[in-house]
Amino acid sequence: MATRTTIIALAYLISAVLFILGIKGLTHPKTAVRGNLLGAMGMLVAVVVTLVSQEIVGYWMIVLGLAVGATVGGVLAVKIEMTAMPQMVALLNGFGGGASVLVAWSELIVKANAYGVALEKNSEALPDYGTLVAGLLAGLIGAVTFWGSLVAFAKLQEFKSFKKPFDYPAKQAINAGLGVVVILLMVIGIMTPGSVAPYFFLVVVASVLGVTLVNPIGGADMPVVIALLNSYSGLAATATGFVLNNTVLIIAGSLVGASGVILTQIMCKAMNRSLVHVLFGVMEASEGSATADEVYGGRVKSTSAEEAAMLFDSASRVVIVPGYGLAVAQAQHAVRDLTNLLESKGIVVEFAIHPVAGRMPGHMNVLLAEAEIPYEQLKEMDEINPSFAQTDVTLVIGANDVVNPVARTDPKSPIAGMPILDVDKSRTVIVIKRSLSPGFAGIPNPLFAADNTLMFFGDGKKAVLDLLAALKE
Ligand code: NDP
Repeated sequence: MATRTTIIALAYLISAVLFILGIKGLTHPKTAVRGNLLGAMGMLVAVVVTLVSQEIVGYWMIVLGLAVGATVGGVLAVKIEMTAMPQMVALLNGFGGGASVLVAWSELIVKANAYGVALEKNSEALPDYGTLVAGLLAGLIGAVTFWGSLVAFAKLQEFKSFKKPFDYPAKQAINAGLGVVVILLMVIGIMTPGSVAPYFFLVVVASVLGVTLVNPIGGADMPVVIALLNSYSGLAATATGFVLNNTVLIIAGSLVGASGVILTQIMCKAMNRSLVHVLFGVMEASEGSATADEVYGGRVKSTSAEEAAMLFDSASRVVIVPGYGLAVAQAQHAVRDLTNLLESKGIVVEFAIHPVAGRMPGHMNVLLAEAEIPYEQLKEMDEINPSFAQTDVTLVIGANDVVNPVARTDPKSPIAGMPILDVDKSRTVIVIKRSLSPGFAGIPNPLFAADNTLMFFGDGKKAVLDLLAALKE
């Protein structure tokens, strides 16, 4: 018996170590794939050992479950476009939260029934308060995560009805009211251990709270929310781990929760926001901000591949700014070829990486690493910003919000105060995008009408290939 418990504890320890090594591997592009594999192996060990130790399902059932899970995961991984990864991450966070709700629910039913039976035998029987509190927390956090993640998914997918938050009066007061109801239901749940009804109502109210909390967040603040929901899904898993008394779930959940909190902090810093401001601030563009006509009217100058090539020919320093459009266009390989060509002409080329460029943390790093652009060439915002004034040509490819000077100048803008890449300080800026349509924050960008900016309209990949061809001529 002792041997069996020891083996299970040892297996859990191995899987926890694999998780930690996995996370460590993910901190660098060179070791990221190995890190991913180590994490997956840790999860495999954890799942198999848990199922075997419970003795509820047979081996064939475990193999079947693994086969179904691996097939669904494999198909999703292959089919999902890189640009849709953020939505998928949002969904996976949500599923984690949803699973916690269901698992805690079923365990609370078992505990409530056991308590009822114990009471019949001995009127002084005590409920298992630890499991009860953990179960209620798992239901609360899990439901907020599930519904919040679904709203985040809809926003990232740019579903029309979710692009702008749906409006209703007294949003903050309603959220505060829901918060109070949640606390009351938690207390009632603890005081009535023989019933799962409070848990059920708690999950319903927390579900509404998940929607109302994430709904108003928009503009450029979504990265913070994604990181926060990621952390919530970990916390929900940890609480479920306590409900099930499962060590490895507690460890895995804590790792996700803690790394999510760290990421949330990094994102808040990147956006120059406080968490309270993101969660309870109003993020819509307020009246008084300039319209597209006012910003662009007659001031936008467009350019061609040939004209742009001439500018590059006389440049000695070039900075490339990738954005979400680069991912959409899948232009990373073309950009690598352009970089190589420019460098062969003796031009210094660097990449300016904004922490929230794209649609997920590290999106641009992953994209450029895929094209084997050396990591040393990627410069973070703080490092590259002072050098724009000495840059001959800055090539912005599919980036918009992260280079929008309005963040510095318009306190009413939804991106007000967000640090941006100071590309407008370069001698010449060439912007590749298909039109003058706005970025994720939905606001016009005066950079496109600046005196030193030339717009190169077109799909990111095609434009870079045209530029390459013109440079070779
Ligand atoms: P933006 O969303 O601001 O702008 C992307 C631009 O790419 C658009 O203006 C679009 O213009 C252009 N584009 C789209 N497709 C193509 C294409 N095929 N070829 C060329 N251009 C194209 O991107 P940024 O990277 O500048 O900013 C990211 C935004 O997303 C920020 O607001 C950030 O807060 C938010 N966000 C970031 C997350 C993260 O974790 N990084 C998560 C969630 C949101 P056009 O249609 O004219 O081509």
